[in-house]
Amino acid sequence: MAIAHYRGSCQCGAVSFEADTDLDQTITCNCSRCQRLGSVLAFAPREAFTLNAGEDNLTEYRFNTMKLRHLFCKTCGIQGFSYGEKPDGTAMVAINVNCLEGVNPRALSPHAHDGASA
Ligand SMILES: [Zn+2]
Repeated sequence: MAIAHYRGSCQCGAVSFEADTDLDQTITCNCSRCQRLGSVLAFAPREAFTLNAGEDNLTEYRFNTMKLRHLFCKTCGIQGFSYGEKPDGTAMVAINVNCLEGVNPRALSPHAHDGASA
């Protein structure tokens, strides 16, 4: 596994970010949201993630346990990331790999997380 630096954005470009993350440790998820979005997620500690633009153009959505803050662009609707916490309280970011520059999510081997049963 290798942590590398990636840049990402929403579709319209209003929201952009960069992060250090490991694309050998991605997941897909079958929860009611990820199933619909087709999300492939990578993770980074909050301090390894920088929101470069668009903080005021984000809309927040929470569901189920209400712990994850799903943030999507008000203009184009694309969710580039969400904020959450590990069970030990460490602040984390779940990054939508589909939004990263120069990355083909279909070439990755994500672990299938059973979020629907969680
Ligand atoms: Zn956008």
